[in-house]
Amino acid sequence: MDITIVGGGAAALMTALLAARDGHRVTVLERDTLPRQATGEDAAASAFRGSAPQVVQPHVLLSLFRLLMREHLPDVYRDLLAAGAVESDLAAQMPPALTERAVGPDDDRFTMLLTRRSTVDWVLGRAARAEPGVTLRTGATVRGLLTGPGARGPAGPRVVGVGTDVGDLRSDVVVDASGRRTRIDRWLAAIGARARPARSAECGVAYFSRHYRLRTRSGLPARPDNRTILALDEFTVGVWGADNDTMVVGICPLTEDTRFRRVRDPRVFTEVLRTVAPFRGWLDVMDPISDVFPMAGLHNTMHRLVADGAPLAPGLHAVGDSVCTTNPTLARGLGVGLRGALDLVEVLAEHPSDPVARALAADRAVTEHVEPYYLDQARIDAERLRRVRANLAGRPPRSPAAPAGPAPSVDRVGFGELAATAPHDASLFRSLTTVKGMLARPDDVYTDPAVVRRVRAVLDTHGGTPGIAQPDPTALHRALR
Ligand SMILES: Cc1cc2nc3c(=O)[nH]c(=O)nc-3n(C[C@H](O)[C@H](O)[C@H](O)COP(=O)(O)OP(=O)(O)OC[C@H]3O[C@@H](n4cnc5c(N)ncnc54)[C@H](O)[C@@H]3O)c2cc1C
Repeated sequence: MDITIVGGGAAALMTALLAARDGHRVTVLERDTLPRQATGEDAAASAFRGSAPQVVQPHVLLSLFRLLMREHLPDVYRDLLAAGAVESDLAAQMPPALTERAVGPDDDRFTMLLTRRSTVDWVLGRAARAEPGVTLRTGATVRGLLTGPGARGPAGPRVVGVGTDVGDLRSDVVVDASGRRTRIDRWLAAIGARARPARSAECGVAYFSRHYRLRTRSGLPARPDNRTILALDEFTVGVWGADNDTMVVGICPLTEDTRFRRVRDPRVFTEVLRTVAPFRGWLDVMDPISDVFPMAGLHNTMHRLVADGAPLAPGLHAVGDSVCTTNPTLARGLGVGLRGALDLVEVLAEHPSDPVARALAADRAVTEHVEPYYLDQARIDAERLRRVRANLAGRPPRSPAAPAGPAPSVDRVGFGELAATAPHDASLFRSLTTVKGMLARPDDVYTDPAVVRRVRAVLDTHGGTPGIAQPDPTALHRALR
């Protein structure tokens, strides 16, 4: 089949590679010029793009992404490692408090990859340009959808290509991979199709982040392949290693917390980090290699291309952020993107000549592989927002023994309860890592009777996570000013 992909980000490139290797002819249309870069460092230096500002933000590649990549795009996986991506195994991810630290061969599934996102896009771009079945056209902006003779039943207009600022392009399949700011709703309206059913849930955080390079490999405050994220009472802060001795640091306050606006100033960024005990040590062993990158306007969203059992526009599919965005602190975006790319290639193979059946099958895959993570994130965020807002308003913070999650129930636990008990129990740590790594549907873990029993027992014994040392309020106030 001839496939046109709108957008040339990570989701598009992974889809293009998989589809081309399954025998399709793929054209990727990217509006930015994306000059070829000789090295990953060159790519990092010019990574910021207004149309995809997240590319300079801290990323990790979760266990699901790594497993799928290793199985379905093994050469790209090898290229990522060759470009400096670091495998962070279960031992590296263990919190210091965990006493049972033995790992077995089965724990390999928990390994994730640490790398700058620009390195991922650089490796994917190189692979796509070298792939015989893929044509990557940069500097080509898609402006709308082309339609052809109608599909059967109640389905909407049949999509047969795209209009671009460099001419029309006809194809059997169009895939929207143009990211979280996709114009697809406007394009659907323009061809007389119904709007996409949409769901959204508040995410509420802003990101301020900066890249550093380690000055030394000895005397570090912690393993650089351990992803340290502290959900403090008033904001979240994180640090972890990436490729080629780089480190990424993020400060994530609530968007409404205007005290943090000045954190985009590198001096303020540094001073705020100095108020958080484990971060002071990191500042002493690494040098900044970038500005502070701010990013707001983050939402949990889900969009479908099927409504009331009928495709909105047969011939049209979507992958990546165009389908679902979730709070970046759980790092699920690229896992959702790669899973979606694989699902799409599978439905193309199953229904080569029936665009309606294809659209319905793709929608079922979204229900199966995407929606559970959207719903989980919406719940996690609602609880975190409630807690942080209470703290900011000066109401007594909740006891750590009563952590986040749905109302206590005998037959399910919440993410917060699991996260609070995981540092005390190796089995619960694996359950939490299963949820975080997208290795099972979150609800399957939260309702597993063995997990529920163990969480209750650990809460009875330990009473939840030991409180995290908070920044001194006067020092934080001074830093923010
Ligand atoms: C702060 C932050 C941190 C994150 N951290 C992580 C993480 O740790 N791990 C993780 O897995 N995910 C993370 N994510 C999510 C991840 O970045 C996204 O899921 C991912 O970038 C989505 O890729 P995409 O290809 O769908 O969209 P994008 O990367 O946004 O690509 C869309 C592309 O389409 C192009 N385009 C748009 N419109 C048109 C048009 N009309 N014509 C042609 N081209 C067009 C754009 O120029 C762009 O290149 C994070 C996100 C944010 C915001």
